[in-house]
Amino acid sequence: MDEVLIDIPEEFYSDGEGKPFETCVVCGKNLKDPGTHYVVEKAMKNYADNEYSVTVFEYAMCTDCYEEMQKGMSEESMRNLQGYYQKLIADKGGPYLSINLHEFNLKKWLSNCFFKDKPVKEMKEYQLIGQFSGNKMVLNTPPMAIGEEVMEEMSELLSTQTKGEMDRFREQFLGPPPEIEELFKGRKILLL
Ligand SMILES: [Zn+2]
Repeated sequence: MDEVLIDIPEEFYSDGEGKPFETCVVCGKNLKDPGTHYVVEKAMKNYADNEYSVTVFEYAMCTDCYEEMQKGMSEESMRNLQGYYQKLIADKGGPYLSINLHEFNLKKWLSNCFFKDKPVKEMKEYQLIGQFSGNKMVLNTPPMAIGEEVMEEMSELLSTQTKGEMDRFREQFLGPPPEIEELFKGRKILLL
């Protein structure tokens, strides 16, 4: 299947840079090279009665490093997560999403938890995840907002060992400030 590509929307820009991410957080690879595949994740927190949201951490990671990181997960955790993911997808009516590009509205698309269809605006925290290639976003695996409920449930499926690995990885490459560390400790960086 051909890749469906659109310009990188601002929602997935680096807040720190005010423009699209340029390098892999782990290996430093230039992400703007055409055909370089990578993932962007942003963790968001709502403040002031959810009037506004703030990015608490963000990164871009090339597919190679992403796969490397996944190896840090125990088999049990991986199996649990895959089972959970498949159930959510099945609840949504199957893996085949069709996005009508003429009507595609990213803001609307990202305003609800991808899995549970609840507005992220009403949550304390949520994550945004998207897949990219060079200077484009890839829509074949659509971008997602993942609500706190799903984040929590996923976290519960991880073994202590995997949580430790994920925390170690996070600290090494993302060096989160203490507040964030508490918030996202043991949280899995998404499965795709
Ligand atoms: Zn990399």
